[in-house]
Amino acid sequence: MTDQSENKKKGRNTLAVHAGERPDPNTRASAPNIVMSSTFVLDEPVGFSAYDIPDEAPYIYSRWRNPTVQQLEEKLSALENARACRCFASGMAATSAVLFSVLKTGDRLVMSDANYPGTAELARNDLARMGIDVVTVDLSDLQAVEQAVTQETALVWGETPANPTMRITDISKIAQIAHQQGARLVIDSTFATPIATRPMTLGADYVIHSLTKYCCGHGDAMGGAVLASDEDMRAIETDGQIHMGGVISPFNAWLINRGLATLPLRMKAHQANAMAVAQFLEAHPRVTKVLYPGLPSHPHHELAKKQMDNFSGMLSFQIDNGADIVAQMMSKLQIIHYAVSLGHHRSLICWMDTDDLMSSSYRLSGKQLQAYRDFAGDGVYRVSVGLEDPEDLCEDLARVLG
Ligand SMILES: *Cc1c(COP(=O)(O)O)cnc(C)c1O
Repeated sequence: MTDQSENKKKGRNTLAVHAGERPDPNTRASAPNIVMSSTFVLDEPVGFSAYDIPDEAPYIYSRWRNPTVQQLEEKLSALENARACRCFASGMAATSAVLFSVLKTGDRLVMSDANYPGTAELARNDLARMGIDVVTVDLSDLQAVEQAVTQETALVWGETPANPTMRITDISKIAQIAHQQGARLVIDSTFATPIATRPMTLGADYVIHSLTKYCCGHGDAMGGAVLASDEDMRAIETDGQIHMGGVISPFNAWLINRGLATLPLRMKAHQANAMAVAQFLEAHPRVTKVLYPGLPSHPHHELAKKQMDNFSGMLSFQIDNGADIVAQMMSKLQIIHYAVSLGHHRSLICWMDTDDLMSSSYRLSGKQLQAYRDFAGDGVYRVSVGLEDPEDLCEDLARVLG
């Protein structure tokens, strides 16, 4: 199932199960093996430069290429309709691989003003220190994006749905604005997964996933992925993967590959459960706002319907003085775990305080801060709705909310 044109003809459930995999030629094992070897026995001499590895090279060293990791990469390419995929030790390793391989001193990076806090801090601190002009913008304000994306802009970085407000970015419109100025577009599609959205087909040049989340799906392996064209992947592969070296363990790649087989089924269940919990919360007298892209009350619901085949399992909600009941969320919930991360089969909840995020990660002011507050108020409870029975999840939340 390596042939890309063959893959295009297959359904997504079939791809999730079979893409990248084939029975072992020696044992005829049906399930994939794990190849943990860091090095491979060579039949002829090879060079030591990352720049000289021929496309048809055998396996040489696992930081360059590993058969188990490659299976995962082939499956993800097929699901995302992307030519090339490289996997990393974490979502942040994938994120750094793109940022540090593509950007150089003097370039401008235009980044969503609300996104994964690790990405926000990496850009505002580390990239700025290296002389990259980092500008943050509300990507749902197209006029502001047009003003921010100048000729000096090398990359535009979006995340949709965006952490923690569930703001939706119009990928095709942002791609058009970026490309008019000769910039490239990166979309962190972790919350959406390839089941909901395929950003490459909407004009994005790079797609990022934290595989730790829905793709793995069970909260027991960390990983990250970059998807791009063959041409764009060359720098990611040499600089980001081989030189920066944040490669994924074959064991984690194997676990995530196994998780992906059920991704289409899991996403259906995550969506159905999240809708039930969102409706319960929206009807609850103490809850002042629910942000779930699948609810008609979400400000970007129409765009979400157009761009997403599945609304995913992530939602945020607000109550008056939300920060005051964090301790109760930790002590009274019997099913939902109070924990960071998301996309697991277990439901997770955590408080994301606006002032805290502003002083540490986002540092917004003026109109941008106001726009953030219009969505998130003083803070939100972010819920990753898992695969339990939704009635049990609502009952659990009612233990705290009354
Ligand atoms: C978790 C996450 C990341 C970082 O991924 P890790 O695997 O934790 O390094 C990046 N982007 C988004 C949207 C995430 O949720």
